Amino acid sequence: MIPADFDYLAPTTLDEAVAALAEHGDDAKIIAGGQSLLPVLRMRLNAPEVLIDVGRIEGLRGIRDDGDALVIGATTTHHTVSGDPLVRKHAALIAKAIEHLADAQVRHRGTFGGALSHADPAGDLGAPVLALGAEFLVAGPGGRRTIAADDFFDDFFTTSMADDELLVEVRIPKYTGWGAHYEKFVRVAHQWPIVAVAAAVRTEGGTIAEARVGLTNMDVTPVRARAVEEALVGLPATDEAVRQAAAVAADGTNPPTDLNGDADYRRHLAAVLTRRAVLAAAEV
Ligand SMILES: Cc1cc2nc3c(=O)[nH]c(=O)nc-3n(C[C@H](O)[C@H](O)[C@H](O)COP(=O)(O)OP(=O)(O)OC[C@H]3O[C@@H](n4cnc5c(N)ncnc54)[C@H](O)[C@@H]3O)c2cc1C
Repeated sequence: MIPADFDYLAPTTLDEAVAALAEHGDDAKIIAGGQSLLPVLRMRLNAPEVLIDVGRIEGLRGIRDDGDALVIGATTTHHTVSGDPLVRKHAALIAKAIEHLADAQVRHRGTFGGALSHADPAGDLGAPVLALGAEFLVAGPGGRRTIAADDFFDDFFTTSMADDELLVEVRIPKYTGWGAHYEKFVRVAHQWPIVAVAAAVRTEGGTIAEARVGLTNMDVTPVRARAVEEALVGLPATDEAVRQAAAVAADGTNPPTDLNGDADYRRHLAAVLTRRAVLAAAEV
């Protein structure tokens, strides 16, 4: 289907983009890589009167070292993020998750900020950024503000950004020396996960000293598996010990039931995939 008519704006500065959002309000929609928005427009599930393309704003693109954290600009493509040496060294979990995200074409067009703003509970980036305790810098008419990852994902396809705000960049603390793994369960290659688990683990002589675990598609938002994280600390990184800790992976979640599986099946998957992800992150 052809999208409904819209006006197209392509600001070259963040201030212009914020002003355009303020002027057009509910009638406007940001477009970045278009990999999620264009299908929505073509199916006429949304019909904004104005599209604001943020792809020409230089300051929104790129990755920089900011001391104890990495900062990833919102319009940096998945391909660039996953191949970046800084990301692979200090935030390997992000790079590994992107390796499983869609196909090469989508990874070359889709953006880090677009995927997170889209807030699909089955999206592959929410759980990793949540597990790593990222911070989101957003800009709007009132200026800039920072939102903690725990507060960013609000509901099904909904973030805590206001309608007149846009995502500028994501700050990810460095996890240098931590092991990381993203375990994704799909029926069809290059598609969204039925369930996936993001795990980052720091070991000391075969013992798990710290763990961070996020779950994809186990609720209306990505979920941090804090019960597992706590249960893992101090355990030997062995199959049996990690299996027991992973048994609480689904605690407190409210997984969906759909054609790919019911909620109980997803709870089972969460425990199995958590065990696999943690053991792989601990390199056992
Ligand atoms: C065939 C196919 C397979 C895919 N498979 C997967 C998969 O396996 N896993 C996965 O996680 N994703 C998958 N995706 C989605 C992909 O990750 C998209 O790149 C991503 O969801 C959206 O990024 P985008 O830059 O294209 O955003 P757009 O489509 O341009 O925008 C998406 C939404 O975010 C908003 N937005 C964009 N940028 C900003 C910003 N800076 N500030 C505020 N709001 C903003 C837009 O208004 C829109 O509502 C797939 C997509 C396709 C087409």
